[in-house]
Amino acid sequence: MGLLLLRFPKKLLTLLLLLSACVQTTQAEWFSRKEPIMGTRVFVEIWQDDPERAQSLLQQAMDEMERINLLMSPYQDASELAKVNRDAALAPVHISRELFNLILKANHYSDISGGAFDITFASVGHKFDYRKHIRPSAEEQKAAAELIDYRHLALDPKGLTIAFAKPGMRIDLGGIAKGYAVDNVVALLRASGVRNGIVTAGGDSRLIGDHRGRPWMLGIKHPRGEEHVITLPLSDSAVSTSGDYERYFEEDGVRFHHIIDPAKGESAHELLSTTILADHSVDADALSTTVFVLGAEKGLKLVNSLAGVSAILIDRTGKVRYSDDLVDPTMH
Ligand code: AMP
Ligand code: MG
Repeated sequence: MGLLLLRFPKKLLTLLLLLSACVQTTQAEWFSRKEPIMGTRVFVEIWQDDPERAQSLLQQAMDEMERINLLMSPYQDASELAKVNRDAALAPVHISRELFNLILKANHYSDISGGAFDITFASVGHKFDYRKHIRPSAEEQKAAAELIDYRHLALDPKGLTIAFAKPGMRIDLGGIAKGYAVDNVVALLRASGVRNGIVTAGGDSRLIGDHRGRPWMLGIKHPRGEEHVITLPLSDSAVSTSGDYERYFEEDGVRFHHIIDPAKGESAHELLSTTILADHSVDADALSTTVFVLGAEKGLKLVNSLAGVSAILIDRTGKVRYSDDLVDPTMH
């Protein structure tokens, strides 16, 4: 026994030295990448211990974002969505199950919001170029507004086809596709064993786990400034913000921005920004756009009726409004 005890420390020492060498070569850290995809900034950050594997995962994440962009962008002539916009008024267009399912999801949000969320908003929306300050004439806009109605989309779930009931109709998934893409990337990273990370596409973010023992801190930007008005400590959730400051131009004091109220065929003006918290980005994304159109009263009513969904709204006066499940920090 004595001999054993004497010999043990030497072995232990060797073992410890070996272990510390291992730890040094496999020390975990944050790895991130930022790329412009889907007309926005995509940012992915993950906690990994193998730099090569981390870079490969970041590449897979960006590839997935790019794949969805090539499928769903209205600006890519070869995308399925562009084909739908070109041909669906002439004859039913066959699309992938993936695009079909996302259109169904979008229509679900149209149904529960009385049409506030409506991918046919693009019948009007595509006549605007917010960067170039281009807008349609009042008559043109009015005529295009008549074409907005998701119920004029004929969807055949068996044949996987979509057709437009009226010529001139357009669809655009800009209010939901980024969230969908974020969820796909999160699923991919999780399946590869990522336990801590963040995936962001413009205003849509989803968190994997926490920030290594502490929550992630996500800021809600002041709609008319750069500073954050609220910082949210979050883990394992999705958060999406829509605002009238993202894509807009002003003319004679009127702000023409990218979120269109389907009922009026023009930009929605009651709120300045809407932030939605949910489990999945696809829902948070669609709902941030939906609630922006609905306004505070109807928007909060909808959010309060949905399990696991919270909202933080900033109205025209700068007042912050919360869904019932959140505690207003100024009320204490
Ligand atoms: P978000 O990026 O989530 O803030 O959503 C804004 C985007 O949603 C716009 O840039 C449009 O592509 C799209 N969008 C605008 N108005 C609507 C609407 N009423 N329903 C569905 N999507 C919309
Ligand atoms: Mg959105």
